[in-house]
Amino acid sequence: MLIKPKIRGFICTTAHPVGCEANVLEQIEYVKSRGTIPNAAKKVLIIGASTGYGLASRITAAFGNQATTVGVFFEKAPTENSTASAGWYNSVAFEKIAKAQGLYVKSINGDAFSDAIKAETIQILKEEVGPVDLVIYSLASPRRTHPKTGHIAKSVLKPIGKPYSGKTLDTDKAEVKNVTIEIATQDEINETVAVMGGEDWEMWIDALDRANLLAKGCQTVSYTYLGAKQTWPIYGQAAIGKAKEDLDRAAKALNQRLKALNGSAHVAVMKAIVTQASSAIPIMPLYISLLYKVMKEKGVHEGCIEQVYRLFSKNLYGNKLLLDDAGRFRLDDLELDAAVQSSVEALWEKVTTENLNNTTDFKGYQTDFLKLFGFGFPSVDYEADVDPVVGFEH
Ligand code: NAD
Repeated sequence: MLIKPKIRGFICTTAHPVGCEANVLEQIEYVKSRGTIPNAAKKVLIIGASTGYGLASRITAAFGNQATTVGVFFEKAPTENSTASAGWYNSVAFEKIAKAQGLYVKSINGDAFSDAIKAETIQILKEEVGPVDLVIYSLASPRRTHPKTGHIAKSVLKPIGKPYSGKTLDTDKAEVKNVTIEIATQDEINETVAVMGGEDWEMWIDALDRANLLAKGCQTVSYTYLGAKQTWPIYGQAAIGKAKEDLDRAAKALNQRLKALNGSAHVAVMKAIVTQASSAIPIMPLYISLLYKVMKEKGVHEGCIEQVYRLFSKNLYGNKLLLDDAGRFRLDDLELDAAVQSSVEALWEKVTTENLNNTTDFKGYQTDFLKLFGFGFPSVDYEADVDPVVGFEH
């Protein structure tokens, strides 16, 4: 079939298998061009491994130091008439390329919050891999079924304390408009913490530790976003920000636990980039379009793979431990640079529908958004008939 993008709001409901492979290859080429990361982990478990920061982590581990990677994700398989989700195609492509280069890879598709998927992962690690020396936790999900109570918690993207009123970008219509978002109730805040807070990260480490599957010196990292003034009302100081604060609590508890293994747990603060998760957050597309413009003009723009390569080579396996006062890795340093932020703030005041393409890098935003689903790669013939049904080799 011919596969074209079908965009509905912040999601594209189709994905292109050949384009997703091009996306994965581009990231692999980046890592290879930067070279081996000496002393990096050799056995890595990535939870949320199929898109965004998790996929970049898997690629960096595999191609930065020839690591064995086990990836967990939740993606839609293809049928004769409908494409798979992008993460499915990304993972198929990753496996194919990694295996061809002699790397061990294993992928597990299912709900990472469940006991069943944890048990399946543990079984595979026991039988085929052994203890891991790095666990990357990179889930982004709007809901979580609690494995013990069965309660389905739903996260919200709402402010705390007072409603948000301000600019946002309708990416379908390329329109800058005003939006008001009502505050989250305490119940909604609790639910958001249940979905995106640290409990599941702790459950994973607990299950792995009990099964003796954490190697001596094992490290674990969970990703967060802090942001600045423009995004605080909807992110940093909002319901999702409370969930991210809970990651700091979990990191402390995990550090205690991992002491016995000489291991450690850290939260890594990453930069805002276009992913399926971030495009669903109100005002984030406008902020990212402005940020990209400013950072590209200053020559300091980074995407997922550049951020994660830096995390591995400088923070995780560099010469010295680079942590902030709260014990976190900071990869958002260039984004939060005062000059970058003041330029973003000035443009934020100015931006309107009419001047959108001059004041922002909305074009860059759209290009990156389409790339997430395998569209817009010059090497791919989008007029060619393509079979959507591609699967994992066993
Ligand atoms: P993403 O949407 O690209 O990736 C989410 C991953 O989670 C996918 O692999 C998906 O399959 C997996 N997933 C979701 N629900 C699952 C489930 N129930 N079981 C198994 N797998 C599941 O998201 P992303 O933007 O890369 O976000 C990853 C992490 O990085 C999040 O913690 C996010 O807050 C953080 N982060 C993102 C940004 C950003 O700008 N995108 C910035 C800083 C930090």
